[in-house]
Amino acid sequence: MTAATPQTRNWQPIVKQLEAIVGRNGIISSRAERSVYECDGLASYRELPGLVVLPQTTEEVVAIIQLCDTHNIPFVARGSGTGLSGGAMPTEDCLLIVTTRMNRILEVDLDNQRVVVQPGVINAWVTQAVSAADFYYAPDPSSQIICSIGGNIAENSGGVHCLKYGVTTNHVMGMKMVLADGSLIEVGGKIPEMPGYDLTGVFVGSEGTLGIATEITLKVLKTPESVEVLLADFASIELAAQSVADIISSGILPAGMEIMDNLSINAVEDVVATNCYPRDAGAVLLVELDGLAVEVAASGDRIRALCQANGARSITAATDPEDRLRLWKGRKAAFAAAGKLSPNYFVQDGVIPRTQLAYVIKEIEALSDFFGYRVANVFHAGDGNLHPLILYDESVPGAFARVETLGGEILKLCVKAGGSISGEHGIGADKRCYMPDMFSEVDLETMQWVRHAFNPKELANPGKVFPTPRTCGEGAHFHPTGGLGEGDRF
Ligand SMILES: Cc1cc2nc3c(=O)[nH]c(=O)nc-3n(C[C@H](O)[C@H](O)[C@H](O)COP(=O)(O)OP(=O)(O)OC[C@H]3O[C@@H](n4cnc5c(N)ncnc54)[C@H](O)[C@@H]3O)c2cc1C
Repeated sequence: MTAATPQTRNWQPIVKQLEAIVGRNGIISSRAERSVYECDGLASYRELPGLVVLPQTTEEVVAIIQLCDTHNIPFVARGSGTGLSGGAMPTEDCLLIVTTRMNRILEVDLDNQRVVVQPGVINAWVTQAVSAADFYYAPDPSSQIICSIGGNIAENSGGVHCLKYGVTTNHVMGMKMVLADGSLIEVGGKIPEMPGYDLTGVFVGSEGTLGIATEITLKVLKTPESVEVLLADFASIELAAQSVADIISSGILPAGMEIMDNLSINAVEDVVATNCYPRDAGAVLLVELDGLAVEVAASGDRIRALCQANGARSITAATDPEDRLRLWKGRKAAFAAAGKLSPNYFVQDGVIPRTQLAYVIKEIEALSDFFGYRVANVFHAGDGNLHPLILYDESVPGAFARVETLGGEILKLCVKAGGSISGEHGIGADKRCYMPDMFSEVDLETMQWVRHAFNPKELANPGKVFPTPRTCGEGAHFHPTGGLGEGDRF
């Protein structure tokens, strides 16, 4: 957590030069207006940007970053600011480059299943632009009605349908990138395979640390012939998790599989009253199937049988679009509904092998008891991507520090179970201190070579992703058997 710092740079001459690039309306300099941008979706971390600039074109981004390079000004890209790892949080006295005015769909080429967009285009707009012709854009973060494509590529975002169709990186064909010295490069393209290094793959997931994407070529898919959603409820989360493992090992690959626990079920029923999620269930499992009608019907029957074999208490199915939306409504509202459970929540994002779901959920319960904070679980169960929501009250002194430590212990648990410290929200400012739990020194150094190849002066999104002695220190942590160790951070 960082307090807003006083400005140290004299921005006046920079403002003048930026005005020449984007015009007066493209600059936000008053303290009150800058404070709107001091955090992303992880609102516990805040820092006031030195200045905010809103370009509209690639050429403007090039000129802005050249200016940063000349004056050694650190800069941070920001899309819609829905990130949950503090990735778009400004760094001290930086220039925040916000892409909300870069919001044009530049080209729709359905014959080649490609759409070219500016980075500020909202995820859901891509599907809206092509749905009349029965196409859609598959990566669907739960924030899709507000998050930007630029943010999606920087975080390599996932979503409900990513189990079958893959995450953002599988749908980005190429892009224009402005590197940290202001040079413009084009990577990838419309065709499926490009020779040479896969630089598109390098930029997707790089969290704004290599430069800023200004034009992105996406792949869109044909809308499936048939879709069915099944909602099964179980007495326990373990039985729901077992059903997920059984479905996958039976050879069926649903479009998505999501689990919500009892705490989350009751929160969404309180807030959006779907009346579909039984309040006394230990967990509900949502499965979406898509494809040819005959395949969907056969897979649906098989999944019903597998869930029943694991003691499913009821199974509801929907094929009609409105009924399907009703079944999904609770899951889509889960994060927002957590606000009903406590004044604040801290969402973590880790990945584990599917087979470890039951074990990891039990361990999270133990950590929750030990730290004394309730944890609601909502997750993309099909790909083992957990989203534990730690419920707390920020106004209690020291609460956030304890919650951060609990979140860190959950991440380490994921690594111990053979998983990862991020499934889709990225590392940002939040998880950089846990990178050494997952990567060796040599691994991290190798990543730094890549960063320095594109961003040698570390002007692009400094202080993110990688641990630094100033931000992470030594920090001993929780010891599961021996209680709290000396040097614990709370
Ligand atoms: C309610 C809720 C639900 C969510 N559900 C999901 C989910 O299901 N799946 C999921 O993956 N995430 C989810 N998220 C997290 C978030 O929405 C995603 O990470 C999203 O991709 C962020 O997009 P944004 O436009 O808000 O990016 P921002 O938060 O503005 O920025 C995110 C990162 O991208 C960088 N960046 C932004 N634009 C560019 C650019 N043009 N070039 C280079 N770097 C850039 C920023 O510097 C920052 O590091 C959720 C968030 C919320 C609040």
